[in-house]
Amino acid sequence: MGALDDDIERVLFSEEEISRRVAQLASQITLDFDKNNTESPQPVVVVGVATGAFMFLADLVRNIKIPLAVDFIRAQSYGSGTVSSGAPTISSDFLKLDILGKHVLLVEDIVDTGNTLSSLIPHLKSKGASSISVCTLLDKPARRKVNFELVGEGKYYCGFECPDHFVVGYGFDMAELYRNLPYVGVLKPEMYK
Ligand code: 5GP
Ligand code: MG
Ligand code: MG
Repeated sequence: MGALDDDIERVLFSEEEISRRVAQLASQITLDFDKNNTESPQPVVVVGVATGAFMFLADLVRNIKIPLAVDFIRAQSYGSGTVSSGAPTISSDFLKLDILGKHVLLVEDIVDTGNTLSSLIPHLKSKGASSISVCTLLDKPARRKVNFELVGEGKYYCGFECPDHFVVGYGFDMAELYRNLPYVGVLKPEMYK
């Protein structure tokens, strides 16, 4: 056990659970996006929402068995605190690829209030994506404030429903730390002060 683990009160989703679930999501995505199984054979562009989705995206795409491109977009709403500041800012300049006419799979760490997706999806839609799907590791339905609409034949994939706790690990940070933990957990109460 290292110093990072010492700050953790409780593991919510273990490395093994995450890995099993990621493999299932990837199989489903492979089936759904396989050229032979859809009417619109267009290359898939996987767009990760930086920074939180980086680890999930890496594990997910290495289990997806169809050709795909990877890009990142940045949307920030949290700052260094644990309470969302509302409407996120989108740094669209980070999207390098042209998504016109492409099927986009947006990869998120968590859907919380819904603010991020309700800004990002219309933004990507305006760049001409022919469908927009979302794959999120976690979903906190108890905290939803805004709804979002998928685009075209877009589907919604979710790893786990998450209880209403502020989580860290497996990409999730608090003030940019803990992202490198291989599991998702909750910090000891004194760490939140
Ligand atoms: P939204 O409220 O817009 O749906 O989510 C905004 C972002 O807040 C998420 O993408 C994620 O980066 C961050 N977020 C939401 N819940 C948590 C949490 O429990 N832990 C951490 N570290 N970040 C969270
Ligand atoms: Mg995020
Ligand atoms: Mg954050």
